[in-house]
Amino acid sequence: MDVQPITPILITGGAGYIGSHLTQVLQQAGYLPLVLDNLSSGQKVSVPAHAKFFEGDMGDQTLIQKIYHDYPFPAVIHLAASIQTGESVQHPLMYYQNNVGRTLQLLMALQHLGIKKILFSSSASVYGEPNTNTPFTENCPASPVSPYGHSKWMLEQILQDLNRAQTIQAICLRYFNVAGAHPTFHTQQHATHLIPIILNAIKHKKPVAVFGNDYDTQDGTCIRDYIHVMDLCDAHLLALEFLLQETHPRSLTFNLGTHRGSSVLDIIKTAEIVTHTKIDIQYSARRTGDPRFLVADSTLARTQLNWTPHRSDPWNIIHDVWTYAPCHL
Ligand code: UDP
Repeated sequence: MDVQPITPILITGGAGYIGSHLTQVLQQAGYLPLVLDNLSSGQKVSVPAHAKFFEGDMGDQTLIQKIYHDYPFPAVIHLAASIQTGESVQHPLMYYQNNVGRTLQLLMALQHLGIKKILFSSSASVYGEPNTNTPFTENCPASPVSPYGHSKWMLEQILQDLNRAQTIQAICLRYFNVAGAHPTFHTQQHATHLIPIILNAIKHKKPVAVFGNDYDTQDGTCIRDYIHVMDLCDAHLLALEFLLQETHPRSLTFNLGTHRGSSVLDIIKTAEIVTHTKIDIQYSARRTGDPRFLVADSTLARTQLNWTPHRSDPWNIIHDVWTYAPCHL
């Protein structure tokens, strides 16, 4: 009987919110996830039992060489990053050091080992402020307005340069606003983004701060494209398979969003319906670094990767966090 070898895949930031969902999805798909995480925001308890866990920094070249020696992985999924727009405006250096500096160390380690394939978690924040209300395609010019967005765009450009030098074959996945939970994964979710912040406020009977209601949108609040974390994981699996099969070293970028925009007030209203609770809103000043409108045209991911985000209705996303991740709020 033929026994198929299990392909090990390194996942930086694999103990975080997205990483721990993805680790379980990869494991169920037959890969051996090698989770590298410094636990600065992730939790060891979120790493599934059969994954291999390595506590350490994504920039630790000795550790990466050791992991590769024991488990020769053909590809890396690079998720580890600082990810809060508002925090990045206050602490830009921290964002450039964590996101750009440490990734450079990681890339040097990969180059040394001859590993070329990388799935990079980029962000819709590379687009910045739009001139119209048309969803962004991957060809829209990048013009980030926060250090977080800048850090992601710098890394995309570095990966493109490495691709031209034939050192790296990268797929950049531009995440729009990720939320949601899986019924059984029991992963950690910090209240650092809008949906968990709203549900956390409901749970603790606190008001929700809305950052700006004077934007040029229908209700004055910012529009975002919310995507369920499990739809995002599906896209990673498809992109990984695409990357592993791809022999031609080209660099690709895909938007991961739904083409549907929801305002901050839309999300609050939906959360009220899901939780049967009236939410107390406190309008406050605009948050620096927030674009007015970020919605994805994800035609490319749908056609090239055959991806369909079928769980990403905002009601469903909020329902799943409220129902399956309440202990983490
Ligand atoms: N937001 C808000 N109140 C909060 C948190 C976020 O009004 O307590 C708004 C924020 O200004 C942005 C949207 O919600 O317009 C999504 O913000 P989030 O931080 O979740 O994600 P981002 O789009 O910055 O990646």
